[in-house]
Amino acid sequence: MPENKKVVTLAYGCQMSERDADTLSEISTQEGYTRSEDLATADLVIINTCCVRESAENKILGKIGELKRLKEKNPNLKIAVSGCMVQQPGALERLQHRAPHVDIWAGTHNLQEFGRLIQKAENDQKVAEVWEKPNMTSEATPLAEKGKLKANVNISYGCNNFCTYCIVPHVRGRERSRNPEDIINEVQLLVESGCKEVTLLGQNVNSYGQDLDINCDFADLLKKADEIPGLLHIRFITSHPKDLSDKLIETIASGKHICEHIHLPLQAGSNEILKRMNRKYTREYYLSRVEKIRELLPQASLTTDLIVGFPGETEEDFQQTLDMVNRVHYSQAFTFMYSKRSGTPAAVMPDQIPLDVKKHRLQQLMNLQNDRSLEWRQTMIGKVYEVLVEGPSKSNPNRLTGRTRGNELVIFSADPSLQGSFVNVRMLETHSWTLFGEIVSSEIK
Ligand code: SAH
Ligand code: SF4
Repeated sequence: MPENKKVVTLAYGCQMSERDADTLSEISTQEGYTRSEDLATADLVIINTCCVRESAENKILGKIGELKRLKEKNPNLKIAVSGCMVQQPGALERLQHRAPHVDIWAGTHNLQEFGRLIQKAENDQKVAEVWEKPNMTSEATPLAEKGKLKANVNISYGCNNFCTYCIVPHVRGRERSRNPEDIINEVQLLVESGCKEVTLLGQNVNSYGQDLDINCDFADLLKKADEIPGLLHIRFITSHPKDLSDKLIETIASGKHICEHIHLPLQAGSNEILKRMNRKYTREYYLSRVEKIRELLPQASLTTDLIVGFPGETEEDFQQTLDMVNRVHYSQAFTFMYSKRSGTPAAVMPDQIPLDVKKHRLQQLMNLQNDRSLEWRQTMIGKVYEVLVEGPSKSNPNRLTGRTRGNELVIFSADPSLQGSFVNVRMLETHSWTLFGEIVSSEIK
């Protein structure tokens, strides 16, 4: 092995996957690797996978295939594939057969064992370890890279909701909340290392604490985080509508640093489909939650996830989804075609929807939401918003970019030295997906 070993980590899927990928990178650095983004010179490549939809899996399989060519050029390269795709029941054997050039296979529950797996691979042993159950001790204090402006912090793992389309509870296990002290300590350490914005992560943050024997729900946890000196933006994801309490909305409204952005996945607008998805709320209940948010947090930005083409979805059901998009006024929506996940109840439901119908509905939904998103951004023009300056814009490297408390992305001209500080930005114009603004004052916090 060379002296200066480099690791490149690629994360697919949600923020939990990104967070796990960060843990794996950090463990690799303890094994002597330096983080890098250059695949061509890597000694170890880690792919942390997602299996929530077939399209994600296909993309990842393509990437694993590409790495075979890289390994042919550099036979010392070690390839590790980890996470949700590997954790699916029965998946490991199929994957190993398809990609024999992979050196390390690991599931979602044995992240902390990764150092040992690297050592084995360095001794030219192929390793494959998928645990059935999580390691609760290591989950309590996960490793993370320090010194970044923004960080993700797990507050709970797994999910108890079993939406009938979803593979997540099958690959992430039952819901496990971390102790509030461990979470707050982790956030404090991050802030001391320079972090200004933290996103609290859980498949359903709103049910945080229900499995703990102390009295601390998500609203209580947010309040504690809001008191940490130096932590200036607190975000959280994801909120299940069925568990979004008045207390939580009130806590966000009275908080100082809690950002007014709620990601509230609706999934579908028809009560019949919601029932068959096992979402445990109706469209009326969802709208009542939105009304409460609008009452207490009039400036809040609402985003959502929507699925089209769930088994049995009629044209009328689909129209109900469009109707909800018109009623709620989301600033942004992530829209998906239903994807069959083996082992979930919806995969064997009758009346699966043909691909061409799903594609047509998705296009209609995206067109509608694009109009609504544009309208949302247009309401922001002329007003001033607090923005954390993140760095050069990807699409426009001469300018800087950042996000509002509502999570809207904005591009503006500014001195690069403002990176990492809070500024007030007046929104000037919007087209395609972005807002453009000008700084009206800097260093506001
Ligand atoms: N725990 C979060 C995220 C779950 S996965 C939540 O409950 O919102 C992220 C999104 O992927 C889901 O909200 C859903 O919209 C989508 N999704 C999950 N399974 C899917 C499937 N089988 N087909 C299409 N979209 C799916
Ligand atoms: Fe999947 Fe539903 Fe759990 Fe979200 S709440 S992770 S969609 S089962």
